[in-house]
Amino acid sequence: MSLFVVTIDGPAASGKSTVARRVARQIGATFLDTGAMYRAVTWAAMQDGVDWNDQEQLAGVVERHAFAFEAADDAMLVCVDGIDITEKIRDPELTANVRYIASSGPLRAKLVEMQQALARRFGRVVTEGRDQGTVAFPDADAKFYLVADATERARRRKIDLEAQGVAADLDELRRTIEARDRSDEGRAVGPLRPAADSICVDTTRLTVEDVVQCLLGHINAGQNANSKMQK
Ligand code: C5P
Repeated sequence: MSLFVVTIDGPAASGKSTVARRVARQIGATFLDTGAMYRAVTWAAMQDGVDWNDQEQLAGVVERHAFAFEAADDAMLVCVDGIDITEKIRDPELTANVRYIASSGPLRAKLVEMQQALARRFGRVVTEGRDQGTVAFPDADAKFYLVADATERARRRKIDLEAQGVAADLDELRRTIEARDRSDEGRAVGPLRPAADSICVDTTRLTVEDVVQCLLGHINAGQNANSKMQK
């Protein structure tokens, strides 16, 4: 089966998941939330009580546990050792610990392998993360990089949290988001950066629907150009 891969990378809270989910639905593809995969490994490491600075212990987390990622409508179900942890992985303490997992070379290599296997299994995917266009799928059919002003990203996160009944301080959220950007951009392996051939979209002043339409326009234009070349 031939693969069709759309990658959406970008910093925290830039709207990647919401957009990726909608684009996937529109083009009949499976949505891959690769941040959820890093979060699942972090959850397992926390269960093991690993020493975050012990690289060998960290790398062993993927050997000690069974990870399962399933497409469910337009979400991704995450199970570790048969336990559904889809909700648990959004916990703020866990979010603060993901950086240890995300900066481990051996763990990143393993997760990229899992992402490529999922793409082969589903055939048609919209995958979002930090390194999807640069490392996991360098030959993707369409690559996007979403950015947005940090204050606007904090504002969106605050609205999301308030919708779940959680009060949040805007400045505190902005600081957390900026700290995560620095950690994602600064690591030696799989750092956050746009692929040279990605289309960069600044979503600061755009609605979700604007961004979805923009991406769909590029995806369709790319497919038309491809089918013309093949004629
Ligand atoms: O996207 P999300 O906020 O769920 O990602 C959580 C963290 O997982 C990110 O801050 C990043 O450190 C890491 N991550 C990564 N590479 C990816 C996806 C996520 O390093 N492809």
